[in-house]
Amino acid sequence: MKEDKTCPACGGKLSLFYLKQTCPHCGVNLLTYNAEARLEQDAQKAAQEVEALWNRLRRLDKAHLIEKHYQKKGKPFPWEAAEEKPAETDE
Ligand SMILES: [Zn+2]
Repeated sequence: MKEDKTCPACGGKLSLFYLKQTCPHCGVNLLTYNAEARLEQDAQKAAQEVEALWNRLRRLDKAHLIEKHYQKKGKPFPWEAAEEKPAETDE
């Protein structure tokens, strides 16, 4: 399997056998740059997962509250009415 090594900062090509810490094109420290980028990605991924989870919980909670409200009033649930509509309003 051929793997092209490129600088994460400038995208310049690096030899597979290029073992120095700094990029010959832009001089960025490859070791710390990669580590920082990874840490940032991990943090972003974790934050996104937490946010997605919260959004899901919020939606569930909302759905539950709306359900209660509609049950009290004896009305059909809004999502049931929405499901019967054709999906052509989705643009
Ligand atoms: Zn570079």
